[in-house]
Amino acid sequence: MNTLPAASPAASRVEVSSSIWLLRVGAMMLTVIIFLIDWLSSLDVAIAVLYVAVILLCADVFSRKSVAAVSTGCGLLTLMAFLLSHGTEWLVPPFARCLVSLCAIAITAFLALKNMASRDALQAQIHLLHRSEAFLAGAQRLSLTGSIGLKMPSAHMYWSDEARRIFQFDESLQPTLEYMMSRTHPDDIEDLKSLIEQAYARHANMEAEFRLLMPDGSCKSVRMLAQQVQDACGGCEYIGALMDVTAAKNAEEALHRSQSQLAHVTRVTTLGEMAASIAHEVNQPLSAVTTNAEAGLRWLNREVPNLGEVRSAIERIKSEAHRASEVIRRIRTLSRKTDPQHVQIDLHDVLHESVELVRREVIRHRVSLVLCPVDEPVWVKGDRVQLQQVIINLLINAMQAMSGMHGKERALSVQLSKGEGGEVTLCLQDNGPGISAQNLPNLFNPFFTTKPEGMGMGLSICRSIIDAHGGRIWAESELGHGASLNFSLPTCEPVLS
Ligand code: ADP
Repeated sequence: MNTLPAASPAASRVEVSSSIWLLRVGAMMLTVIIFLIDWLSSLDVAIAVLYVAVILLCADVFSRKSVAAVSTGCGLLTLMAFLLSHGTEWLVPPFARCLVSLCAIAITAFLALKNMASRDALQAQIHLLHRSEAFLAGAQRLSLTGSIGLKMPSAHMYWSDEARRIFQFDESLQPTLEYMMSRTHPDDIEDLKSLIEQAYARHANMEAEFRLLMPDGSCKSVRMLAQQVQDACGGCEYIGALMDVTAAKNAEEALHRSQSQLAHVTRVTTLGEMAASIAHEVNQPLSAVTTNAEAGLRWLNREVPNLGEVRSAIERIKSEAHRASEVIRRIRTLSRKTDPQHVQIDLHDVLHESVELVRREVIRHRVSLVLCPVDEPVWVKGDRVQLQQVIINLLINAMQAMSGMHGKERALSVQLSKGEGGEVTLCLQDNGPGISAQNLPNLFNPFFTTKPEGMGMGLSICRSIIDAHGGRIWAESELGHGASLNFSLPTCEPVLS
């Protein structure tokens, strides 16, 4: 079957301008005909009234100025025809007919001009509307944000072009809630269902974040915000914004990955700095194992073996070997490279493990360490290794700060306290040189260090770890009067497993 080719815009423009010319010529010819009949005929009717047809024809094809000029011309032609056909002999009936024609022309001209003015205003508004629609579509494309309307309870939907593009819905498709669900990632379908339930329950505001599974198997993350409004008929309608946040999500995940890699690198660096202490810590129980093994052998090699002494030597070997393996276990845990795992942990345990890991350093720096724990377990939700890293960092910083002090006791107190608002605070107070008011605001900035070989990343990593745990970290100090470094974390109710 042959199909007619669609008219091109240029062709339809030619058609429109030729029909305008036809109308203009028609209007001119009509004017001439009416004038001649009005002048030459002896009919007792107000022929000039027909000029209204000319004015109405012109209203479609001329500007307002031209229509006003045509109307004035029609009036003048009416007067001219009257004067030419009646001269100075002014009889009442022809004069009344002339007057009626002039009135009809004036009223028609007035109404036509008024109509044209409103038409022009409407066209200007339509033009503005198209422009703002184009702006909106451009802004939606640039910001990857579409809009969705949902009428309740009919669940009839309106989708902007960008919203369709995000969901990759065809233009011919009228999207529905079912289509939306079919494009949602199976793991997030419940989130969308609860959003729809909220809409049926007429919640004022709704918000959700979920993933889409695209036809090519890729994933998109979208965020949806919707607000309830009343439509023109007083019904319930939701106006929503749909944002494609895939790029932001990917960047956030990449940032988390690099943060945890950086945290791992600094953990390993810290362990490297503590290598001598760690070696000593492992060496000590190993030497004790050797000594006890030798002693045990001596008791065994006697003429009459003293089995009691042998047994206690073996028990000591067992406990020393256990001590060594504990040290190695702690170090292995700290140097492990795994993603952070937020589980319920007792902050006491974390504190004790951290102190055990730096015990050698405490002795080496001749620091008297006082622990002030609370009596009961302190449950927090967090990653054990990361929290250990924070505590070790703060302990080492405090010891290093005090290392330049001579002739004065190097005191470090570590206090754990539970606050009123369901949070726990760990405070490390030293009596070192303190921190100047100038340095205090920069302490947690990356690369801020006052140490000749410092990296300046320790406290910045501590802050990102504590932030990720929903807590806060801060320092208080007066130069010359020690420093206190504190962090607080939200506590959680113990879940018995
Ligand atoms: P680094 O230890 O590599 O310098 P940190 O981020 O751990 O990096 O510490 C930054 C700076 O904070 C240190 O250089 C030091 O000046 C200061 N600081 C941290 N803890 C203390 C403390 N207890 N007393 C005095 N200064 C401290």
